[in-house]
Amino acid sequence: MTSANPLENLSALIRCPSVTPDEGGALTALQAQLEPLGFAVDRVFFSEDGTPDIENLYARLGSDGPHLMFAGHTDVVPPGDSDKWLHPPYSAHVLDGKIHGRGAVDMKGGIACFTAAVARFIKKHGQPRGQISFLITGDEEGPAINGTAKLLEWARKRGEHWDAALVGEPTNPETLGDMIKIGRRGSVSARVTIHGVQGHAAYPHLADNAVPGALMLADSLLYPQLDRGTERFQPSNLEITSMDVGNPATNVVPGRATFDFNIRFNDKWSPEAIMAEVHNRLDRAARRTKLRSRNKQPVEFTVDWRDRPSPVFSTHDDRLIGTLAGSVEKITGRKPELSTSGGTSDARFIKDYCPVVEFGLVGKTMHMANEYAAIDDLETLTQIYQQFISDWFA
Ligand SMILES: [Zn+2]
Repeated sequence: MTSANPLENLSALIRCPSVTPDEGGALTALQAQLEPLGFAVDRVFFSEDGTPDIENLYARLGSDGPHLMFAGHTDVVPPGDSDKWLHPPYSAHVLDGKIHGRGAVDMKGGIACFTAAVARFIKKHGQPRGQISFLITGDEEGPAINGTAKLLEWARKRGEHWDAALVGEPTNPETLGDMIKIGRRGSVSARVTIHGVQGHAAYPHLADNAVPGALMLADSLLYPQLDRGTERFQPSNLEITSMDVGNPATNVVPGRATFDFNIRFNDKWSPEAIMAEVHNRLDRAARRTKLRSRNKQPVEFTVDWRDRPSPVFSTHDDRLIGTLAGSVEKITGRKPELSTSGGTSDARFIKDYCPVVEFGLVGKTMHMANEYAAIDDLETLTQIYQQFISDWFA
C-alpha cells in the first residue's frame, strides 16, 4: 500500500501544478491515494459570478460512529520568479534530506502525512471505530469563495456531521512540536478617503488640502491601542498598509487623499464591534479637525470596507486540544504551545460546524522560492497524525 509512505504521497502531489484556481491533477492524485484505503470520494465543483470555478474533494471512510475530519487545500501560490528556484518548483526534487517544491509545506505535505497516517492506522488496527473524512479545497490561497465554506454546506446538506476537525496547515515556527493553533484572530480591511478641494499652492485659502485630515484620521486609529490582549490572544493590531495622494506637482494642493488599513483583532471584538469602533474614532477625529482646519469645517471622509470580514474564533474543546497536544508530546517529546497567532485559515469556516484545531509541518519556507519539507519531518508528522487518530478514536 504505497499511500503509507508520506514522501511518495507528497511527490505525487507536488508534481501537479495546482496554482489557484487550477486543480492541476492534484485532486486526482489524492483520490488515487485515498480510494485504495476504502474512502468514498466525491469531486465537487462550485462556481460564482466574478470568481473562477473551483474543484474540491470530499472523501469519507466508515458510515457511523464518531467522525473526525481532516481539512486542507491542494492549491498553491504561484512559484514567482523561476530563476530563484534551485530545482523546478513542480519537480519534487529530493536532496540532502529535503523534498523541494511549491506546496511542500503549505500544505500538500500535511495532506500527504495524514493520508499515510490513515493507511498505517488501517494496516495496524483495521478500520477505525468511526468515520474519517478529508475535506480538501482548491481555493484556500485564492478568494476562498468556492472552497471550504461551500464544501461544508454541501456536505452538511448530504447529512454529514463531524465531531472534530484537524486542519493540516503548517503551524510550527521552527521545529515540529512547537505549536498547535487553537484559534485565529479576526481580520477586517478598509480604505478611508478624505475629500478636500484641489487648488493652487500659492492660494491655499481657495483650496482644502486633504492631507492634514488624512494624517489626523489615521492617527486616531493608531492611538490609543485597541486593547491589551486577552487570556488567549495577543493585543489587536491595526496596520496602515498604504497612504496615497497621487499628486506629482509641487504647486497643487491635493483635494483627495486615501489610506488603507488592516486590523487583526482578538476575542474582545466581533467584526461589527471593531468596525463600529473605527467609525467612532474617525467621527470624533473629524470633529476635532474642525478646530485645526482653515475653513473651520470638519474633514469630509468616506470609509469603504474591503473583502468579507473574517471573525475571530477560539476552540474550547479541551478533549480535542488535549488529545492532539498529547499525541504531539508522545512522538516528539515536546509540549506544543497552544497559540492563536498568525493569519486566518479555513478553520474560520469549519468552527461553525465542529471544534477545530490546526497542526502541520514547519512553516518557515511557505510561499517562498525553494519551499521544502524535511523528509524526517514528514515521517514524524505521519507518526503524530497516526497517534492522534488512535488516541482520538480510543
Ligand atoms: Zn495553506
